[in-house]
Amino acid sequence: MKMVLATGNKGKLREFRNMCKNEVVPFSDLLGAFDIVEDGETFAQNALIKAHTIYEKLGSDYIVIADDSGISLPVLGGEPGIYSARYAGEDATDKENLFKLVDAVKAKGLKETPAYYTAAIAIVSKYGEYVVHGWMYGKVIDEVRGEKGFGYDPMFIPAGFDKTLGELDDDVKSTISHRSKALVLAKPIIEMLQNK
Ligand code: IMP
Repeated sequence: MKMVLATGNKGKLREFRNMCKNEVVPFSDLLGAFDIVEDGETFAQNALIKAHTIYEKLGSDYIVIADDSGISLPVLGGEPGIYSARYAGEDATDKENLFKLVDAVKAKGLKETPAYYTAAIAIVSKYGEYVVHGWMYGKVIDEVRGEKGFGYDPMFIPAGFDKTLGELDDDVKSTISHRSKALVLAKPIIEMLQNK
């Protein structure tokens, strides 16, 4: 069965390709680009919505993998959380979302505050559905540093580091990230499905 990734997010696609040795294609290569309405209440529900939407269009020859992810700040009651991609509005860019979060940290009078990323990876195939999770803990600061990564990375310092993910190499991120931790759990499931 062929593996398809239910995302249009270039940063996620790049990370999945690095971690899966290029074995994944984005759904847009097969179906063209379109938006999927994510109206779930959790990362897991939204990952399943994305995976099922693409699986229903492609059919039973495919294993569809979807990632729903985001950053949460306890000081903001968990925001932006599942709304990370649209924190600054429905069509907001990554940069607009990033600067809105920097402003929210500043508005609390903080230079830094604890934060964590969550990734839910859903896998849908003719054999049913699976969801796994991964987390990365650290803190966010009241400024952006570096150009690497994507999304909120330039303001996020992982626990045990003194640089942001905007400054650290992609190789470092891929060993500690929420997405890589979820993918470690997803890989044996995908292998099992491919060998059925
Ligand atoms: P989704 O595509 O609906 O899952 O939204 C994910 C959003 O969460 C992205 O647009 C980013 O804003 C944020 N996000 C998720 N993972 C990361 C990451 O690894 N680095 C930076 N931002 C991330």
